[in-house]
Amino acid sequence: MHKITRTDTASPVVGVSNVHKSFGALKVLDGVSFDVNRGEVLVLIGRSGSGKSTALRCIDRFETIDSGEIVVCGHRVSGPKLDLRALRQDVGIVFQSYNLFPHLTIEENITLAPCSVKGISKVQAKEQARRVLAQVGLEDKLHQYPEQLSGGQQQRAAIARSLAMQPKVMLFDEVTSALDPELTGEVLKVIEALAADGMTMVMVTHEMGFARGIANRVVFMHRGKIHETGPAAILTSPATPELAQFVGTGL
Ligand code: ADP
Ligand code: MG
Repeated sequence: MHKITRTDTASPVVGVSNVHKSFGALKVLDGVSFDVNRGEVLVLIGRSGSGKSTALRCIDRFETIDSGEIVVCGHRVSGPKLDLRALRQDVGIVFQSYNLFPHLTIEENITLAPCSVKGISKVQAKEQARRVLAQVGLEDKLHQYPEQLSGGQQQRAAIARSLAMQPKVMLFDEVTSALDPELTGEVLKVIEALAADGMTMVMVTHEMGFARGIANRVVFMHRGKIHETGPAAILTSPATPELAQFVGTGL
């Protein structure tokens, strides 16, 4: 897998600095910092409950933070004057499930936001829908409803829907976790192609082999902190017993 290594001196696409976040008495993010530069793939790993989804949701302002700073594509996400609409145009997010509107065709799912949020014409939006569906290998599913597609195809359509907004960064939160194993590969292949194409992304995944192949940087979360971080090689030679245990090499 080709990894993009750019020495980009511009400010990072995603900058997370010393972020703290609690839910009541539960500290979920305890001084988390990381940067993602243009064209980079950052993979977040860690046990269930370690704060991975919360970290992603803070980037897209689905959660607010208690302290620290998050800047995404020049938007001060943690600031009081955030233009939420502008942020959401720049950031695409795909979750584990429940991504598509069940009562709309795939085409309608994909053209909805570009028409209503970006104000582009129906004709243009439909053209774009064809293009992004081709990108995920689903050009023949335009007029089908989500329930007529397999889980893997639905996730690919959800990715296509995000791409139609022409995001500058994509966030993926365990997008293959709800899928049968035989459907996982087709979704990962789409993400791999996006990465090879230079898309900046932050991804939470339990697919360690995939993470090893795609990550420019791996962040291992443990008890709300970044316990270990480094290039993909840390997955095969972890420095801490916690990461070793997590990846199952038993240090
Ligand atoms: P991960 O994605 O690593 O499994 P999460 O970020 O989803 O972890 O959750 C971290 C912790 O925060 C968990 O203990 C979870 O139960 C808790 N949590 C997440 N969201 C909320 C919320 N909205 N309200 C209260 N607790 C939450
Ligand atoms: Mg999660």
